[in-house]
Amino acid sequence: MINFDVVILGGGAAGLMCAIEAGKRGRRVLVIERSEKIGKKILISGGGRCNFTNLQVTPENFISANPHFCKSALARYGQADFIAWVECHGIAYHEKELGQLFCDQSAKLIVKMLADECRTGAVRIETACIVTAVERSADGFALQSNRGEIRANTLVIATGGLSVPKIGATSFGYEIAKQFGHKIEPTRAGLVPFTFDATDLVRYRDLSGVSVPVEVACRRRSFSNAMLFTHRGISGPAILQISSYWDAGEPLTLNFLPLTNASEWLRARRSPRADAELKTVLGEFVPKRLAQRLCEIQIPSRPLRQYAPRDLQEVCEQLQRWTIHPESTEGYRSAEVTVGGVSTDDLSSMTMESRKVPGLYFIGEVVDVTGQLGGFNFQWAWSSGFAAGQVV
Ligand SMILES: Cc1cc2nc3c(=O)[nH]c(=O)nc-3n(C[C@H](O)[C@H](O)[C@H](O)COP(=O)(O)OP(=O)(O)OC[C@H]3O[C@@H](n4cnc5c(N)ncnc54)[C@H](O)[C@@H]3O)c2cc1C
Repeated sequence: MINFDVVILGGGAAGLMCAIEAGKRGRRVLVIERSEKIGKKILISGGGRCNFTNLQVTPENFISANPHFCKSALARYGQADFIAWVECHGIAYHEKELGQLFCDQSAKLIVKMLADECRTGAVRIETACIVTAVERSADGFALQSNRGEIRANTLVIATGGLSVPKIGATSFGYEIAKQFGHKIEPTRAGLVPFTFDATDLVRYRDLSGVSVPVEVACRRRSFSNAMLFTHRGISGPAILQISSYWDAGEPLTLNFLPLTNASEWLRARRSPRADAELKTVLGEFVPKRLAQRLCEIQIPSRPLRQYAPRDLQEVCEQLQRWTIHPESTEGYRSAEVTVGGVSTDDLSSMTMESRKVPGLYFIGEVVDVTGQLGGFNFQWAWSSGFAAGQVV
């Protein structure tokens, strides 16, 4: 039997951050990781360069049944703190777009930084360790594992979400939460591409690889960025963002002419390009193949002189309110995050401790706090891990 002050289940971003902070305070810390190595999701994140935070982090960048819950942790350990740490370790980084910070070289440097800091704090890390049961004991928790019984005064659940099961995601964190009486906000795949039904597949499939700037809207949320046609549906940053707000069956509204004066733009082309076909003129604004396809589907293309100004106004409106009914999403297999999770109702926003079971903590993605695309999910992992690390 092994005894620790703090046992952390999950050697990802949040778990390692918590371990480092607790280790600094002289606590005897064990991180249990199911996979054969720590930080696997960090390694694959941001295309291998890890978008580790964002220059502008606000509570509005997060989805949660309680939008206020994330505020305290983010205020106490924000993006500036993590950036300072990255700089202190000499990791070069750059802003890609919209405040998103990526490593210049490799996400491996972030994992190395976390592993080095764990070593400094004498944090013990057990990989390929499978916990099969967790029970309350007289002085804390008893865990049954393939390494025997492990005892902990304090237990931190940092097992992440359900996305990308092939690199180790499990539902174990949610099961423990339920076992100890916590409510789970319904989970679904977020930051995930959409798939088309059979009709739309026929319409759009050969556009696979075409990228176009759009404004996409759903349920009074909208995002402006690139959209990418794939061989199964649509993806790209604007689409991934809106997917986290989408419920099955809802339509998406796409604006292919995100200009304030779109109809003026089109009307202005009427006299110099009177003989040009609509699809050709639209091809100056969106990719030609897309312009042609949109005309084939819904807006018959004729020479511009054949359109009255009112018709052109209508064409613009159609292009600005193009409706798509996704069949589904690609699911957890390719989702970047899990929306929903352990309800914040019974967690302290200051410490992440359970209000039901003293000594039990939940941090990172397993909690019902989900960031938008752009480094916000890692910032939540660092901030919530730091908050718990100060008190465990
Ligand atoms: C492809 C991809 C790219 C991403 N890119 C970005 C990005 O660039 N920027 C960003 O902010 N976010 C990104 N994310 C999201 C981000 O990776 C997560 O939100 C973040 O890693 C969550 O941290 P976490 O510590 O809570 O969970 P994780 O990092 O998922 O760590 C959880 C750990 O727990 C382990 N585990 C699971 N079950 C058990 C168990 N039963 N026992 C022991 N261990 C267990 C897992 O193996 C894992 O190592 C990306 C996600 C994916 C899938």
